[in-house]
This record gives sequence, structure tokens and C-alpha cells, in this order.
Amino acid sequence: MAYVEIYTDKIANNAEYLKGLLDNNEIEMVAVSKVTCGDPHIVTAILEKVKNIKIGESRVENLERIHKSGINAETMLLRSPSSDKSQKAIENADTILVSELSVLERLINKSLKKDNTFIYMVDTGDLREGVWFEHAFEEMKKAVELAGKKLTGIGTNLGCYGGVKATPEKFDILIELGEKIRKKTGHVFHYYSAGNTASLPLVENGDCPKGINQFRLGESIICGTDATNNRIVPGTRQDTAILYGEIIELKKKPSLPWGEIGRDAFGRKPEFTDKGWRWRAILDLGEQDVLTKSLKPLDNKLEVLHASSDHLIVDITDSKDEYKIGEHIAFYMSYGALLRVMTSKYVNKVYI
Ligand SMILES: *Cc1c(COP(=O)(O)O)cnc(C)c1O
Repeated sequence: MAYVEIYTDKIANNAEYLKGLLDNNEIEMVAVSKVTCGDPHIVTAILEKVKNIKIGESRVENLERIHKSGINAETMLLRSPSSDKSQKAIENADTILVSELSVLERLINKSLKKDNTFIYMVDTGDLREGVWFEHAFEEMKKAVELAGKKLTGIGTNLGCYGGVKATPEKFDILIELGEKIRKKTGHVFHYYSAGNTASLPLVENGDCPKGINQFRLGESIICGTDATNNRIVPGTRQDTAILYGEIIELKKKPSLPWGEIGRDAFGRKPEFTDKGWRWRAILDLGEQDVLTKSLKPLDNKLEVLHASSDHLIVDITDSKDEYKIGEHIAFYMSYGALLRVMTSKYVNKVYI
């Protein structure tokens, strides 16, 4: 069966290293576990190694999973809850990131726990969540009227939709907005919640504006990578998880299909190079479980050819190793591939 080996100690070490980096800059860390669906083994490993951090999740279900496993940590919900999940959000998240006044109002009208707080999101250019920064002041003023002291911060997110990179100017927008709110209303924000992984270069280079005091980090902790800036994050490890697919068919076939070519199972136009007859392994993985294009075989003589929803095809012809039916082939994964692997119930999770 296909399985993923997760090296929880390496992930915890990444978290510890990044916590140190943020500490030096007076920034608190929210460790984001969403790529693992709030996996309690991984969250526990991080919390045992790194103290004084919060746990961030985008889905209420993942926060519930964390709490049900007995983990006791301060939590943050990174995405506005849908209307049916408002109550559960209030119960499971200490802090909720919001970007609509009506959502904030809906949440406030629930019976809040005493420590429920909110952070209002500002879009500083990436075009995902948040009120567009030029319109933010008026909306934030109303949010302050609605939530009062429960509105403890403002935040922004970059590098996720538009791929927009973090610059000091982006974060200055938050600082200036907070200052303007304080001058006009007397309301003080305690949290300036800026970065995700894509913003780490600012901290590394000492360019993060003073006053930014919270970073929400996922990819850099779990994968040691930074997709937006197309780099590995210095000081972290990338070999935190390895995927294994089992060989369920191993046959010699031509490299070109035989017949008239239409589209594949996903409506894609498949492309082929004629390399003659090749040895091809079929693994018990597919698009449902992985992001095929971003799998990297540990055996660098292997080539991932293509996948349908449930068959992954690997050319093993050039390998020095011998592969047999029932054996496994190992892969490193990108953040995107790991996301699917952790979400797939068809991939067994093994913790090391
Ligand atoms: C996913 C997410 C993060 C973490 O992002 P990474 O790139 O994984 O570090 C931070 N903030 C919000 C709002 C998110 O949705």
C-alpha cells in the first residue's frame, strides 16, 4: 500500500529554528499545520519542542481534530468560517482572522468564549483575502465599533494567490493603518500579523518593519521550502516527509501510445517522446493522492511520466536498481504534493 513517512523530529527542528529567528526580531510564531490537516502527531511533536507558540489552521474541522486528540494549545483560525461552522469556530479557535464586517458580526453574536479575539485582514496586493488597503480605514473603523477590545489585531497575507512578494512597504501599510485607527478612535491593536513563509526573507535580512509582531508559518516549518520565492528556507530541512508508492504493475511497453490521440482522463492533452520500448512501473497512487508533476524520485534515474486519478506511471528503465512487483518507490514532495498526500485517505501515514 502507498504510505508516507513523516519525520516529526525534523519538522519540530524546523519550527524551533524559525522560532529562534522570529524571537530575535520580537515576532511571535503561529505554527500552521493545515498542510497536514491538523495532524495531531505532527502538532504534538512541534509543541513538545517549541514553547510559547500558537497553532494556526484554516479549517474548523482540523482545529476540532487537534482538540479531540487532547492537545491543549492556543489556536488561530486562518480563514473565515462558513456560516454553518460559526459556532464550532468560536468553540475551537481562540483567534479568528476575518475580512467581512457581516462575518465578524455573525461571530460576535454567538456566545463568545472569554478569550475569543479577532484579527481583521487587509489586502496589501496579493488579491486573496482582506479589505483592499485603500479602503481599509473606513471598514476597520466599523470593525472596531463592532468588536471593540475583541478586535486585537490587523493582518495581511502575501504570496498565496497573486504570488506577490513581501516588501517593507507592504507591512508599513499595516503599521500606518493601525496608527491612524489609534489616532482617530483610540483603539489599539496588539497584533500586527504579517507574514507567512513568503515573508521570511524580510526577517532574515533585517528588513521587517518594527511593530510587526506576529508571523504565521506553515510551509517553511513542514517542508522547509518557500514556493513564492522559489527557494529552500536557510536553516531548515526539506527531507521531512517521503512518499512511497507500491509497484502494482511492471511491464515493457512502447513510449508512444498506439491509436488516435484524444485527451486524457482530466481533459489534458498528453505529450510523449519516443524513446523506444521502456520499462514502466504502475504505482498505487494517482492525482487523487498527489500532485504528480511535483514528485521527485529519490532514485534520480527514475522519471515520473504521468498519472490518472489512481494510477501513477514511472519510467524505471535507466535505474541501476532492480524493481519488483510489491516493492515501493520513494519520492520527495513539494508543498502541493504533500497537501494532497496528507488529505488522501488512500495513503497510510507513518510517523517516525
Ligand atoms: C496558509 C496560511 C498561512 C501559512 O502560510 P505558509 O505559506 O504555509 O507559511 C498564513 N496565513 C494564512 C492566512 C494562511 O491561510
